[in-house]
Amino acid sequence: MGSFLREDKEHLRGDVIMVPHGSFISYLSLDFLENDFGTRLFGNKYLFKWESDRDLEKEWLEGSKIRIPMSFDSPEDIDRPVIVKSFGAKGGMGYFLANDTEDFERKSSGLSGGYQIQEYVMGVPMYFHFFFSPLNDELELLSVDRRYESNVDSMGRIPARDQEHMGINPSYTVVGNFPIVIRESLLGQVFDIGEKVVRESRRISEMGLIGPFCLETICTSELDIVTFEISARIVAGTNPFMPSSPYTYAKYGKDISCGRRIAMEVRDALSTDSIEEVTT
Ligand code: ATP
Repeated sequence: MGSFLREDKEHLRGDVIMVPHGSFISYLSLDFLENDFGTRLFGNKYLFKWESDRDLEKEWLEGSKIRIPMSFDSPEDIDRPVIVKSFGAKGGMGYFLANDTEDFERKSSGLSGGYQIQEYVMGVPMYFHFFFSPLNDELELLSVDRRYESNVDSMGRIPARDQEHMGINPSYTVVGNFPIVIRESLLGQVFDIGEKVVRESRRISEMGLIGPFCLETICTSELDIVTFEISARIVAGTNPFMPSSPYTYAKYGKDISCGRRIAMEVRDALSTDSIEEVTT
């Protein structure tokens, strides 16, 4: 295998497989990564543009035939509480909520560039960390987290009557992650959603999802899981699960983190001469 990597990529010093994360994708040009980056990446780099572009991401989610938030093409169509996501926003900074068209008009003066108007789904956020193994043709749930966001997660600490006078604008800046173990009866729905997203990933990009990916969801009081975002790579929400998670421990009977699960797949690929199935 060593010789395989050396012969294949003259840029490499030694045998290297990079594991791309969110910052890696946002700071390097996707065009460069797809065409000129001289090192193999674990996962399918051709899906990065699908997760980074809100229109493509919507197409992927819609094609998966899972429940997603309703979108509104025009502010005039708003008929329920919505969340307005400006395209340049990172980590939910610059998002705002609006109750109706008038409320949107009042709050949208600072909007520049594109934005998406999405139904505000009432419920709790849950972020599912999956791993798809092309070698075993199997979808695994590694762990689940929720983000700790400032200042939305502090609003419950202030009585509503006081909030009214404080002029607070909700923001969603991520400052940390909490581990979650979900209600067991939800697991069937979680795997169903994950499998549909994997199936659709093969339609939009030949190799489909490989290795770690995350579905960002809201679970409603009717226990419907509504997916609003995909990350086609490892996410920071897996960090609370070093060295292990209840789900990987239940499956493997030993400590397995997301990083170790990736290492296992690389090892399996090396021993079966199939590294091309797990890297791009
Ligand atoms: P990142 O790229 O880091 O995931 P982002 O800028 O894309 O961040 P989101 O993760 O899309 O931001 O959303 C930020 C916050 O907004 C999250 O707390 C999420 O729960 C909430 N949110 C997003 N979409 C909806 C929705 N349709 N209904 C309710 N809450 C939502």
